[in-house]
Amino acid sequence: MLKKIYLLLVGLSVALLLVACNGEKSSGDGDRSDKVQVVTTYSILYDIVKNIGGDQVEVHSMVPFGANPHEFDPLPEDVKKTADADVVFYNGLNLEAGNSWFEKLLGTTGKSDEDAPVFRLSEGVEPKYLTTKGKEGQEDPHAWLNIENGIQYAKNARDALIKVDPDNKKVYEKNAEDYIKELSALHEKAKKGFAKIPENERYLITSEGAFKYFSDAYNIKAGYIWEINAENQGSPDQIRQVIDLINKKDINVLFVETSIDPRSMETVSRETGVPIGGKVFTDSLGKPGEDGDTYIGMMKWNIKTIAEQINKHSK
Ligand SMILES: [Zn+2]
Repeated sequence: MLKKIYLLLVGLSVALLLVACNGEKSSGDGDRSDKVQVVTTYSILYDIVKNIGGDQVEVHSMVPFGANPHEFDPLPEDVKKTADADVVFYNGLNLEAGNSWFEKLLGTTGKSDEDAPVFRLSEGVEPKYLTTKGKEGQEDPHAWLNIENGIQYAKNARDALIKVDPDNKKVYEKNAEDYIKELSALHEKAKKGFAKIPENERYLITSEGAFKYFSDAYNIKAGYIWEINAENQGSPDQIRQVIDLINKKDINVLFVETSIDPRSMETVSRETGVPIGGKVFTDSLGKPGEDGDTYIGMMKWNIKTIAEQINKHSK
């Protein structure tokens, strides 16, 4: 008897909970269902899509701010939101591939990255490739670190949103136009800024080799401890190689990424006596309210920090 009453009570509270949840959905945020429901794999895409979608979209980003998007385990909430999404955006170029997490997620949710509503934001970008032995031919994902590619991402987001929500075509076009103008200005400013640094000083050493696209765009050479996060990080061999490079090129300052454990770079700094000049953003935005919490903000921060630190430690 007691057991029956207990079960009845449990049943009742579950029913009440469901009613409460439904109530919240319909009354808590009246126009929620009118908005285009978007899911992005990580924070940088989240911000680009927010800039294009504005008030017309509600965006859920999966990999937490500050975390590494190469490998991830989606939470039940991510699975549900992906299944229900009107649009899903991912980077591609071998980024969300570390443990095949995104491919598995699409499988679980019955979506395919070959057709809408799943869009690859790096579509149309000229890929660069890894060079580490055994990884040659694999795409390097960090295309967004060249702002020209960021502009391509913005255009792709605009076109995808127009496809799923043609009624708001004009809004997306206007938002994209304004945003692209701002990105173009920053890109030009960065090119001019780095050109002022003597060429033999233009060297950027980070933990992960995320700066291939950046390096090409802004004419600054890049060196790293390991080439991509989805591999061994900071092995003695890797540390030795970067120390050799630092000594050979007489490099005066090192950098460490916000989304990477700094200990390997601290070892390199200790061994070479070369200081770590500052943090840079690569695979994640800063936490909301902190430095670098937008794509434009993180790029501005990187450009400023790298140029300032190289000048400060210049011979
Ligand atoms: Zn990375």
